[in-house]
This record gives sequence, structure tokens and C-alpha cells, in this order.
Amino acid sequence: MVQKHHVVVFSSPGMGHLIPLVELSKKLVTAHDLSITLIIPSLGPPPKAQAHVLESLPPGSINHLLLPPSDPSKFPTGSRIETLICLTVAHAIPALRDSLRSLVERVGRPVALIADFFCTDTFDVARKFGVPSYLFILMNATVLSMLLHLPRLNQEVSGEYGDMDRPIRLPGCRVDLPGPDLPDPLLDRKDDAYKWFMHNAKRLNLVDGFLVNSFTELEGETIRYLQENPGPEKKPVYPVGPIIQSGQSNGSTDPSGCLEWLDDQPTGSVVFISFGSGGTLSSKQLKELALGLEMSEQRFLLVVRSPNDAATDASYFSAKSASNPLDFLPDGFVERTRGRGMVVPSWAPQIQVLGHRATGGFVSHCGWNSTLESIVNGVPLIAWPLYAEQRMNAVLLEKDMEIALRPEAGEDGVIGREEIARVVKGLMQGEEGAAVRERMAKLKVAAAEAMKEGGSSTKSLGELVSKWGEVSLE
Ligand code: UDP
Repeated sequence: MVQKHHVVVFSSPGMGHLIPLVELSKKLVTAHDLSITLIIPSLGPPPKAQAHVLESLPPGSINHLLLPPSDPSKFPTGSRIETLICLTVAHAIPALRDSLRSLVERVGRPVALIADFFCTDTFDVARKFGVPSYLFILMNATVLSMLLHLPRLNQEVSGEYGDMDRPIRLPGCRVDLPGPDLPDPLLDRKDDAYKWFMHNAKRLNLVDGFLVNSFTELEGETIRYLQENPGPEKKPVYPVGPIIQSGQSNGSTDPSGCLEWLDDQPTGSVVFISFGSGGTLSSKQLKELALGLEMSEQRFLLVVRSPNDAATDASYFSAKSASNPLDFLPDGFVERTRGRGMVVPSWAPQIQVLGHRATGGFVSHCGWNSTLESIVNGVPLIAWPLYAEQRMNAVLLEKDMEIALRPEAGEDGVIGREEIARVVKGLMQGEEGAAVRERMAKLKVAAAEAMKEGGSSTKSLGELVSKWGEVSLE
């Protein structure tokens, strides 16, 4: 039997990280006949959605290994999510070392290890076994430019980025980025999350190459810049996207019946509202959102999670709400909007919703997976960033790619009902909505082109795989 080249894929905790790494793995298996071992550290028992993703992997070609869970009670209380993720990865390193050793002994040396940004500690282990490491930037090329630029920014800027009076122009990028729109963990230099972010950013020189979940037609200038501007650490950049989930990650098809409900709605008439796997609104913001949707007089499909007044990422490790989220909606809202609107608690089959002919707009937290899913389906966006790098994505979507409208928050940080009604109406019926819709329709075509045989992203991934092909199997 001919031995296949073998790749180890390591994902940090969180569905938003696991899904694109799984989808990349599937591509490597189906299009390039590689075999994959997916290694996953965890923070407690695996969430249901993760278990489903792992159960549905093609048997034989993608094996997975869940490392023993770390004990969150040993982590500093009140840690930010990014800190918890990095601590979980750091705790998993000895187990990764053992797993890699055993893999090398059983099936030979892998041709590559691919991991996401929070996992640069894995690169030392890969090196020890002579395995080249690749970083899959699960986001866009602008984020990669920011990460590469970060050590310099860290030196040049003395105070907090949030207090900067002039915006940052990232190398190779066309739009200015206000300091406060940098990813959350960068906004408090004293927090451990900042230190972890810098720790990973400073170790990017250890990689043999970057994969980016973006495509030339979306971020041509930035990708070209990153590919052509040799810094001292120049590493190849492979745009391989849009890589999006192919199935439904929570397993159940449509328990809420929202797809059936969409079947009864006119084409392009429904605005879908969802804040990703972890986004949570405050109770005041959730009420304003509901009342704004009601005022907009548009059809809507709203995914509701129980509000949290302290954190916008409160559902990160489990999307399920503790209490009934519908209890937090304004009195009589569901009854008043019945027929025109549908409310789904906690989770919707997003891929199918975005692919449904009735869906005409998407109010999104600008998570990169959601953004790509919207692009692939040509659904224009309303950018409503909450945490992580979402504000940065929102700037890109509105100002550079011009595929999103963005509501403005009031002085208290809450987006009021009138503003929500104005943007939702504007997206679904206004001229500004027509312009972003048209641009999105073009990007939908470009995304499909990039991923087809001979397309830019397919070629780019092919180039990388042929490099691995030069490695002889021992
Ligand atoms: N998702 C879903 N249903 C939901 C919420 C999220 O299927 O109700 C999926 C969505 O399709 C995407 C992922 O969860 O694939 C969220 O990833 P993203 O990067 O957009 O945001 P994150 O959850 O990482 O903040």
C-alpha cells in the first residue's frame, strides 16, 4: 500500500477555530489525498457541537485526538477568554509532545503541523521532531498584517492603543484602523491576554508559512503586499479561502423550524440576526434590537441568547443559554411580530439560513467565519462587532470591501432602536443597501471562482501541498 503524506492539525479551543481547521483538513484529504491527525486540547468536557463535528469526520482519513482536559480551576480567576485559550494550549504541550512522538514512531514523520494563532507553542514541539510548522490565520490578510506588525507597534506606542489620537495604517492595507478597533486583548497592556497575544505574535518567525482564510479577489492588495515585501522573516503566504463549514455544526438539522418558516417568505426579504457562537448582548441592547427590528417593518429571523450585562463573549465555550432567552425580549414582542418575524433561541442552522433564497441581509458580529459564509452566499451585511477582532473586521467590511452598513452606538455604547430600524431598512430597501448588495453579489462570484479548479485559492493550496510532496516518506 502506498503511504500517504500525513499532516498534523492542532486547533485551540472554540468552535470558531475548530471549524475552519476541520474544513481545511477535509480539503487536504479530498483534493490532495493527504491523511490528517487533528489534535485538540480542551477546557473541560467537549461541547456538544464539537462532539458532532468530530463524529462526522470522514473515518480513516481524518483521525482525531482529544488531549486530556485542563482544569480551569487552576487558571487565574477572571481571565479573559484569550488567556484561557492560551493557557489551555500551554497545558497541552506535554501531551502533544507524547502524541507526536507516538505518531512519528507508528506512521512516520508528518510533512507539516498546521495550527492557529493561539498555538505558537506547538511550533517548538514540531521543530523537535523535524516537522515544518504552518500557521493558519483563520481570519483575513489584514489580521495577518496586524499580527506581523505588532511587535513593532508594541515598541513604538507607549500608552494604550485605545488612547491613540491617530489611526494606525497597517502595512499593505488601504484603510486606517482606529486604535480602539484593534482586537480586545490588545486594548489593555496590563492584562495577561495582551502578554499572551504578544507572546504568540513574537513567535511568528518560527513558522514555515502562513495560510490565510481569504482570497486574492477580496484582499488583493494586502495579500500581494504580504507576499512581495520581504521582511527579515519573510515567510510564504498562501491565501486558501473562503474555507467555510460544509455541514451543520450542532448536528440537528432544524429543531426550531426556521428553515421551513423561511420557505414561506418572499425571496430576499428576511434579515437574519446572529452574533456567532459566543456573542451575547446586554439586556438593554437586546431589548433595543428587538424594538428596532419591530420598527423597521422588515421580515426577520432573530437568534436570541440570554443577555449578559458584563461580557459580550459570555457564551464562547457553550452557545447554549442558561435560562430561556425569549424571557428577555420586550413584553408582547413575539406576538406583535408573529408572521413577519421569527425568534430562535441560542442557535440557528446559519449556513442553510444564509444559503436560503429568502435571506436578504445579515446583521452579524463580524466573526470571520460568519463573514465568509455571508460572502459565499452573497448576503449583504450589517456590521455589529462585539469582541475579539470583530471591530477590525467591521472597519474592513464597511470601509474597504464596502459590503456592510454599520449602525452607530449612542454615548452609552448601546445602539438605539431608531438607529437599528434605520440601518435594517436601509440595507433591505434603501439605495445604500442596493450598493452593498451589488458589491456582495460580485464577491460571491469571485469567491466561487477562487475555490474552483484552477482558481486562485485552489492553486495556492496546491502549491503548498506540492512543497510537502517533495518530502520523502521515511
Ligand atoms: N453558527 C451557527 N449558528 C448560530 C451561530 C453560529 O451555525 O446560531 C456558526 C456560524 O455559521 C459560523 C460559526 O458558528 O460558522 C461562528 O464563527 P464566527 O467566526 O463567525 O464567530 P465566533 O463564533 O468565532 O465568534
